[in-house]
Amino acid sequence: MTTTTSLRDRIVGIDRTIPLLDGTTVPYLNLDNAASTPALRDVLDAIERFLPYYSSVHRGTGFKSRLSTDAYDHAHRIVAAFVGADPDANTVIFGKNTTEAVNKLSYRLTIPPDGVVITSVLEHHSNDLPWRRAATVVHVAATPEGRLDEADFDRQLATYGKRVALVAVSGASNVSGFVQPMHRLARKAHAVGARILVDVAQLAPHRAVDMRPQDDPEHLDFVVLSAHKMYAPFGTGALVGPRALFLETAPEYQGGGTVDAVTLDEVLWADTPDREEAGSPNVIGAVALAAAANALMDFGMEAVADHEHELLVHALERLARVPGLRIYGETDPRRAREKVGVIPFNLEQVPHALAASVLGYEGGIGVRHGCFCAHPYVVHLLGLNARQTATWRAQMARGDKSDMPGLVRASFGCYNTTDDADRLAEMLERLARGDYRGRYRQLPSGEYVPEGHEDDFTAHFALATHHAPEGPHTHRPCGI
Ligand code: PMP
Repeated sequence: MTTTTSLRDRIVGIDRTIPLLDGTTVPYLNLDNAASTPALRDVLDAIERFLPYYSSVHRGTGFKSRLSTDAYDHAHRIVAAFVGADPDANTVIFGKNTTEAVNKLSYRLTIPPDGVVITSVLEHHSNDLPWRRAATVVHVAATPEGRLDEADFDRQLATYGKRVALVAVSGASNVSGFVQPMHRLARKAHAVGARILVDVAQLAPHRAVDMRPQDDPEHLDFVVLSAHKMYAPFGTGALVGPRALFLETAPEYQGGGTVDAVTLDEVLWADTPDREEAGSPNVIGAVALAAAANALMDFGMEAVADHEHELLVHALERLARVPGLRIYGETDPRRAREKVGVIPFNLEQVPHALAASVLGYEGGIGVRHGCFCAHPYVVHLLGLNARQTATWRAQMARGDKSDMPGLVRASFGCYNTTDDADRLAEMLERLARGDYRGRYRQLPSGEYVPEGHEDDFTAHFALATHHAPEGPHTHRPCGI
């Protein structure tokens, strides 16, 4: 398909080969796009063209400062266009990532003391924990196969009615890929006077996002996203929402760049987005995100969605033939339109951490395993009962990570192909037959590593170590 072929050529590092455990080399296959995507060449090109002009933004009077300010401001408008935000009514606020964006909103949304935030058990912790701090939170249930239980959503909305300040849901799940009926949920939320936040971190790289005009009952009040999941891994995320809301109160982070005037007793806050982007901003990250958004819009999100649908149908059909493989969530290729290309699975008799390691060390395939920062949802998908969940929590509290529940997750980007899905399936078939070489031992972190193997990255990339000797490797407790 032309779209993918040309897109694939535009992925930085797509040609990199990496060593396997047996010493042979293969092209790396990244199926961990739900965590972070590689960079688009369009993004790298934009940064290379911009860097020679990079300078301070906003208050510098030099040519390069004026140019950088123009690029930075323009990046906000491009992101507004990318998510279909009405630029007069909305502001685009750049920050680090989706997590920071949700946290910001949780500090800035005025929620009355008896106010309720309705979220769901499908959420990434980043769209759940900040709300627990800010309000009474109600979690909408999931159906047994992992969809948002809309009947429960309706019930919760009816129960809490006018007390609902916000509905906070993901556009697509980072575990199952299920796409939420966000505009329908928006209409229902608005009918009780609530606003809706859609975490589109997992949707924006795969489908067009359209916040719609403010007077449309189905419009989205807020969206949040991360550039590193959109082929622009340079440390930027965005919160898009009504300007008026951010003008109501003082920013939660205060300091340079957020003000028009300061006396010893008074502060006159600047307009948005400046008042919300405290300190010197990540201008490179903003340019990168805007370049990625432009590239995706040039391609057409419909073309991306169509390609990924084809890929997902193929993958679901092919993986269904792997002996002992259980896919969670939707398994029927005819319903593939209901999700983005994220496939969570387990292989009978093979711990998820071991399966992910063998795929990495012996298949050259990058996946992720664990609970994906969505513990309640993974517990639900695995069907763990209260006793099993309590046992797991007690194990974790003791620092024992040897038997953590979890899944393996393969996630596609717009540049992946059906050959990639086949390569995953073939490797899983080998795993199912026990056809792998390494003798794996489990580390206290829960990860498996092959005995006697030391990674040597020096032929690929290494920072000079003469200033700081290498330290021990660390492992993050839960995947993103
Ligand atoms: N929401 C969803 C749906 C995600 O998939 C992720 C990242 N996996 C996040 C939020 C958090 O994104 P970030 O780590 O970029 O803050």
